[in-house]
Amino acid sequence: MMKRAFLIGVLGAMGCFGQFYPTGAHVNLYFPHLADGGPLAGQWQTSLEFVNPSTTLTAHVELRLYGDEGFPLNLDFGSGARALHTFTVAPGGSITIRSMIASTDKIVTGQAIATSDIPLQGTVLFRNISNSTASVEASAPATLPTSRYLSPATRDLGIALANIAGSSKSFQVTAVNSSGTTLATILVGVAGFGHKSFNLSQMLPALPADFSGSVIITPQIPGDQVLAWTLNVERGLISTLPSGPLDWPISHSDRITLVYKRLLGAAPSLLAGLGNNLSLQNPANLVISSDTAVHAFANSNQTVQINLALSELVSDSPSELAFLVAHELAHIAQYRSGALTLLLPNDPANREPDADLIAMILVLSAGFDPYGAAGAIGKLSMANGSSGLVSPFFDNLSDPTTAFSAARINSMLGVITSACNYVSMSGYCAPYKATIHPHFPGSAPL
Ligand SMILES: [Zn+2]
Repeated sequence: MMKRAFLIGVLGAMGCFGQFYPTGAHVNLYFPHLADGGPLAGQWQTSLEFVNPSTTLTAHVELRLYGDEGFPLNLDFGSGARALHTFTVAPGGSITIRSMIASTDKIVTGQAIATSDIPLQGTVLFRNISNSTASVEASAPATLPTSRYLSPATRDLGIALANIAGSSKSFQVTAVNSSGTTLATILVGVAGFGHKSFNLSQMLPALPADFSGSVIITPQIPGDQVLAWTLNVERGLISTLPSGPLDWPISHSDRITLVYKRLLGAAPSLLAGLGNNLSLQNPANLVISSDTAVHAFANSNQTVQINLALSELVSDSPSELAFLVAHELAHIAQYRSGALTLLLPNDPANREPDADLIAMILVLSAGFDPYGAAGAIGKLSMANGSSGLVSPFFDNLSDPTTAFSAARINSMLGVITSACNYVSMSGYCAPYKATIHPHFPGSAPL
């Protein structure tokens, strides 16, 4: 452990290492609960904290607040009551904003959604204040929508539900005892973009006083998503609980956006000197489509379209998705340059290999696993053909059958070697290999 920490410290100092992020760092940060104000005897104050893990990029953040009924919620975080707060977080920096306890007659509650152009670590803190004395504080990480939320539970468990859809939805809250037997269940309706918070015993009063088990929260309609947060409440004491959304399957719109912005954040260092301006400040137009074909493409209108079906095909691996998205971004860079290729000789036959090479450098720079390239092509190859899953026009290729071939998978190790030989990557791949693949043979390119 010591050795690893030392190694990463040295690599960081070298300044030639890809950008890695802490668990939970995201560009879409959801906070299912906010609380501010209330009578003097029992007030709440909400703080939101954002840490920028990037040492080079400034984060630009938009924070939107919604009340219980789903309308924009004007809340004062020190710069006036408003429902939209915009701010920046310096490279390696952080920012904390605190609600001003503006309402003294009732507790104002709702949800918050922050969007950032690079991944941030987001935390929410809830402080309980009695007669001007802070008595307790609980914290929770920003979370993501899920199709199933699981939490330990007692009878008075605190639950917050938020609806990320524009129309009202119902969510099933089910209490399960320690033997795995369902004791009680109820449907809870929440307005579009709305929020509801309650104690489990309020919704399920028949639960035994000594109930100890778990709750499962699911959308009433399969395919919908729920935002949830729970807080342990027992005999007047409160404590935090682990975050309970599913690890997999995950929210694909959120993952596509995260992968896309991480790649754009890495693009300027790759494309410097190539007459390109593909960056977070000058992005291509990202379209996330619910078209059922497994498909992605880039076009000369500066649009990258990623179908949810494609993300679902590589659904357990952000690195596989990153290679496919990076390949499309490479085509955008080619279009913007006005040349057929950027790194390989200017020949139509080199257009796809050139995009693969640019994609490989992009995924490495953005902190993804470059071996995900073969996984992505392998899954496309598996799904291509008789099943008809994959679009016959995938990536505008006339013949996806050869594009998703064993030959292309085999070529990827050579692409990794070429990426490591690229000038901006000099001194990069050896330390990467030492940290990520410490047990690979010395002869491996990465
Ligand atoms: Zn292509």
